[in-house]
Amino acid sequence: MTKKTETITAPPRKRLFVTLMGVTCLIVVAVIFLAWWIPNRGLANIHPNLPHVVGIIMMVLSGIAILGTGLLVLTTALGKDLVLTRFMRLVVIKFLLPVIEFVGRVIGLDKDRIRQSFIAMNNSLVTSQRMKIKPDRILVLLPHCIQLSDCEIKVTGDIHKCVQCGRCSIKGLVDIGKKYSIDISVATGGTLARKVIVEKRPKLVLAVACERDLTSGIKDCYPLPVIGILNERPFGPCFNTFVDVNKIDEALHLVLDK
Ligand code: SF4
Repeated sequence: MTKKTETITAPPRKRLFVTLMGVTCLIVVAVIFLAWWIPNRGLANIHPNLPHVVGIIMMVLSGIAILGTGLLVLTTALGKDLVLTRFMRLVVIKFLLPVIEFVGRVIGLDKDRIRQSFIAMNNSLVTSQRMKIKPDRILVLLPHCIQLSDCEIKVTGDIHKCVQCGRCSIKGLVDIGKKYSIDISVATGGTLARKVIVEKRPKLVLAVACERDLTSGIKDCYPLPVIGILNERPFGPCFNTFVDVNKIDEALHLVLDK
């Protein structure tokens, strides 16, 4: 794994998701075992061989759960598309995340920590597919709060209206847009973000937002791959936020077909 990939996928955050995934896998295997063990006697009354047949099915299901978790860990650790990475993204986004959020709630973990970890895991799976995409099929999507609140220029709709005074992150992002000829849009909310994606039909979205918006955006956009970059919020949520432009640059380096 390159240094750049490590920065974007943030391994320490990803580790939490991997740990919770392991715990979830153990719970699934325990539930499968109980589902076989409890009605075992009743099954034997129907047919003496039925407990063995059901036992084999349960063992296969447990094996799939353990192998799937192992493959996911290996894919993200190596940063390579080993096998079925797209399918694993589906499993992580649609099935594992709700279960892991539930497990995290039960053991009292902070929601945003789990979301950060999910975003890191998602980024890792997207970048491990090693896609190379033309600049005109990549969309960088920014939240409105990234613009300085007292700036009189409205960059929503056209980021190039920015006169690049440098008081907020928009300046650096305009530079990146020009450097790579990439489309950059500022969206004032989830509905507008979805509208922009439908209109521009990108092959990959690089989205900047908070934990909650990135998590819901990644879920809503599937199967469209989304790389999520967290914004910095020194003044609290949704007000004069920042983004490390270098992280955008690093992410683009991984997916751009130059
Ligand atoms: S860089 Fe300056 S001009 Fe551009 S959006 Fe930010 S504050 Fe406004």
